[in-house]
Amino acid sequence: MSGNGSKVTVATTWLDGCSGCHMSFLDMDQRLVDLAEQIDIVYSPLVDTKELPEQVDLGILEGSISSDEDLHKAREFRARCKLLLSLGDCAVNGNVPAMRNPFKLDDVIERAYRENVDVNPQIPTEGVPALLATVRPVHHVVDVDIFVPGCPPHADTIHYVLTELIAGRTPDPGRVTRFGA
Ligand code: SF4
Repeated sequence: MSGNGSKVTVATTWLDGCSGCHMSFLDMDQRLVDLAEQIDIVYSPLVDTKELPEQVDLGILEGSISSDEDLHKAREFRARCKLLLSLGDCAVNGNVPAMRNPFKLDDVIERAYRENVDVNPQIPTEGVPALLATVRPVHHVVDVDIFVPGCPPHADTIHYVLTELIAGRTPDPGRVTRFGA
């Protein structure tokens, strides 16, 4: 992966996940300082930038596709990122969010917003993205180039994958991580 002589640009976002994969990214700790010499995080919940650039070298998606907003974000990342990476089990196989798939969406909403609520139960209609009927992993809606399983993937795994990509090599995440690791 080349940043055209300059730093490799990286964008990240979370879809339907718990943010734990991003926390694992931060767990690279001191190594982030070294990585900052080689990568430029141009868009992420971890930085202030609010606009996804038109062209990005590497896009990293945490979480699964559960809502119309997730779907839009995944498509936008795919359109603008040369390489797209699914980070963590929720992105790779649906994981925890997909546990609602055996149930009808109306029943899930009823359970979450009425049956389990003691005070003012109501189903929100404004300010929340519309849920899709089923939760899907990222590669079911857009092409994904690199899969990094784990819940979350260990910081060492994320560091390995990033350094391999920066060096222009194809990482083999299966050597260092597995589902649920
Ligand atoms: S893979 Fe695990 S740590 Fe990552 S977003 Fe999903 S539940 Fe959270």
